Amino acid sequence: MASLDVLFRPRAVAVIGASRDRHSVGGSILHNLLTFEFQGQVFPVNPKASVVHSLKCYASVEDIPDPVDLAVIAVPKPHVLEVLESCGRKGVGAVVIITAGFKEIGGAGLALEREVVRIVKHYGMRLVGPNCMGIINMDPSVRLQASFSATEPLSGPIAFSSQSGALGEAILALMRDRGLGLSMFVSLGNKADVSGNDLLEYWEQDPNTRVILMYLESFGNPQRFLEICQRVSKKKPIIAVKSGRTAAGARAAASHTGSLAGADNAVASLFTQAGVIRATSIEELFVYASAFASQPMPAGTRVAIVTNSGGPAILATDACIELGLQIPTLSDETQARIRAAVAPEASVTNPVDMIATATGPQYEVAMRAAAEDPSVDALIAIFTSLEMIDGPSVAHGIIRGAHGCAKPVLVCFMGSVRSREAIDLMRDAGLAVYTFPEDAARALATMVRHGHWVQRPAGVRRPFDDMDRPGIDRIVRSVREDGRVQLTLAEAQNLFSCAGIPVLPWREASTREEAIAAAEILGYPVVAKVSSSAIVHKSEVGGVRVGLESAEDVGRAFDEIMAAARRRDARASLVIQQQAAGGTEVILGATRDTKFGPLLMFGLGGIFVEIMKDVVFRVHPLSDADAHEMIRAVKGFPMLDGARGRPQADLAALESVILRLDYLMAVCPDIGELDINPLFAAPAGQPTAAADARITLA
Ligand code: ADP
Ligand code: MG
Repeated sequence: MASLDVLFRPRAVAVIGASRDRHSVGGSILHNLLTFEFQGQVFPVNPKASVVHSLKCYASVEDIPDPVDLAVIAVPKPHVLEVLESCGRKGVGAVVIITAGFKEIGGAGLALEREVVRIVKHYGMRLVGPNCMGIINMDPSVRLQASFSATEPLSGPIAFSSQSGALGEAILALMRDRGLGLSMFVSLGNKADVSGNDLLEYWEQDPNTRVILMYLESFGNPQRFLEICQRVSKKKPIIAVKSGRTAAGARAAASHTGSLAGADNAVASLFTQAGVIRATSIEELFVYASAFASQPMPAGTRVAIVTNSGGPAILATDACIELGLQIPTLSDETQARIRAAVAPEASVTNPVDMIATATGPQYEVAMRAAAEDPSVDALIAIFTSLEMIDGPSVAHGIIRGAHGCAKPVLVCFMGSVRSREAIDLMRDAGLAVYTFPEDAARALATMVRHGHWVQRPAGVRRPFDDMDRPGIDRIVRSVREDGRVQLTLAEAQNLFSCAGIPVLPWREASTREEAIAAAEILGYPVVAKVSSSAIVHKSEVGGVRVGLESAEDVGRAFDEIMAAARRRDARASLVIQQQAAGGTEVILGATRDTKFGPLLMFGLGGIFVEIMKDVVFRVHPLSDADAHEMIRAVKGFPMLDGARGRPQADLAALESVILRLDYLMAVCPDIGELDINPLFAAPAGQPTAAADARITLA
């Protein structure tokens, strides 16, 4: 079944396990359906009662004479399977299983959940849960409150899915408290069938939903999440809290990339690429949701601040500047308009400080003038409540001043004198109201950033058909046959060449004479380094000599390096490599996350990368826009972009290496992790090429 309409827009709902005890789970779901005035039919099912809540009660869903679209199942666990079977026979379209004790308890619960899924699939039903709190659809033509939540939500544009039942309830209560209106709510539970991804696709089409909130604990299918969010987030902002940020995901890794790819990098990268706005706390979730749900997107970064006290305005200014917003001077005309309405002591530049005596009508004039100033993209109105000033009257002034404004208006209302009344007035009028100026600034900065995402071209993914796939396979096979997972430097460089990734010219040598001959061909200066699967960090064991200028140098390097290396690995050889003429050392790498697939890394620092940690991750698949962004996202990007008279590096060449690595990881699942450290990023016209290569098979 394609659409989730049968779940969210049922014509008839059966509550199976509808206890007469109003405070039991089944009893409260029935109660909620009725008191919330569900627009279809409701049928209680309970073999032990003939009437529940003054409705005729049925012993089985199959006894119900009318068709049933949705069944909410709140029976004890031992009865779930038989109840599901009877729902199937009845022709029920969707079920919500509230009952717990399935996958989440492991063992027998896991087997039971598989059986649940089998029955549901067999009858072509959709399933939310098990182990969930239920679902809500606020559409006035449906009014489905099929959950045991004690909160009566306000109606509004926010769809919300929660992977935790209890937290879902808490968030519903907080939303109500903050005047945030809901379109739909789903407590996902164990996600045995309907997933967060399914909901995103459904809400993409739902006309009542403009903003999507998610509380996530895990990803079922991160690649699909990425694909769906990239599309949906261009139309409707998706704000997510993902818990488990610090979960220890660290594991022993041979490569730099592996050791730098901490647990949260994959999630953070996924969100960035997906255009999902990440909230680091529930508090932040609300800070963002208030603004996105009620305000238009800002066209730019210029903020006008209108206030009745200096302190909070300075805090707001600092926060705005820190977050990359601007506080422009208002135009002469705007200043004159405000000047005419406010106290002579007031300051009318920006922030507009109308001093403590500011009244509602003064706010109105100042807000309207600032809103009409073409040098302003967004407004923050700050009011610090004072005994002698009537808060609700100021609220009315702010509302009138913001009326019809196509720019976002965020209000910061501090203090307590009749604030509640004033805040409710402004929220009802569709303004985003905060307590702290920093929150208003954060919300605005996040809107600006999301606006850039919406404007950003989606980018394209191109296949690299020119890769020598048989060549790559041959190298992998011979390493496997040798019983190894670690490639030698020579093998890794060969593999990269097959993948079309440029490597500085080099030769492999097993004897002193071969080493010198190689150097003569490559041309001095050269670099000598050990090639051995047993030596991962070459320079740490004296395995790298740079700046070799003569046959004598090369001979000595051979003797010294090989003497030490052959004690560790009798098969060690020497790689003689052209010395890079210049350029900036960058690192590129990839690792494979069991859940997220390939994770690509780009960074600055060469051998110091672990100290600098100036690296950026992205998850596969990368578009050219992702590669473009990755390079520009490292803090040290100016070093590549011509800072302090340095030549600008060939950024397109770098992008192309990143995209090739991404493609290589996809077509060669044998590769577990790899890195190139360093790759010399040279100016256009000079070769951008790898000087070191490390590959570990999965
Ligand atoms: P490892 O990382 O195993 O210690 P590398 O091959 O990366 O060994 O060499 C260590 C350092 O030596 C590099 O980070 C780079 O600074 C320098 N180096 C290595 N090869 C070259 C080269 N071909 N040209 C210039 N410098 C090089
Ligand atoms: Mg290296």
